[in-house]
Amino acid sequence: MEDDDDEDTVFSKSQQGKAIVFYEGWTFHFHIRNKDGSITPWRCADRFTSMCKGTLQTKDEKLLKHTDHVCDPHPFKIPKLKFLSDLKDVANSSTEVTSLIVGKELEKTEKKLRGR
Ligand SMILES: [Zn+2]
Repeated sequence: MEDDDDEDTVFSKSQQGKAIVFYEGWTFHFHIRNKDGSITPWRCADRFTSMCKGTLQTKDEKLLKHTDHVCDPHPFKIPKLKFLSDLKDVANSSTEVTSLIVGKELEKTEKKLRGR
């Protein structure tokens, strides 16, 4: 099924578990499904921050309609989400480092206090 040329919609889920779609660097949040449920409407994720009225409509996970944005696309958001598990690993290891640093600082403070 390679008939939708460069229409690159990526369906995913937000960290809150809500349905989202990535399209050409923009992120869209699920809106309210229309009456017969055949078309899924999406709204630009920047609609509050940029007052953006960009919308997307999909049908059977295929792009139907994409309206203009006032906001700029953010292509970096996709890899950020994909590598979330890697980021967690980094966060875990840096927590260890942080506790080591904190421990050393506490030692220093204790020594200072004893010196008085
Ligand atoms: Zn937008």
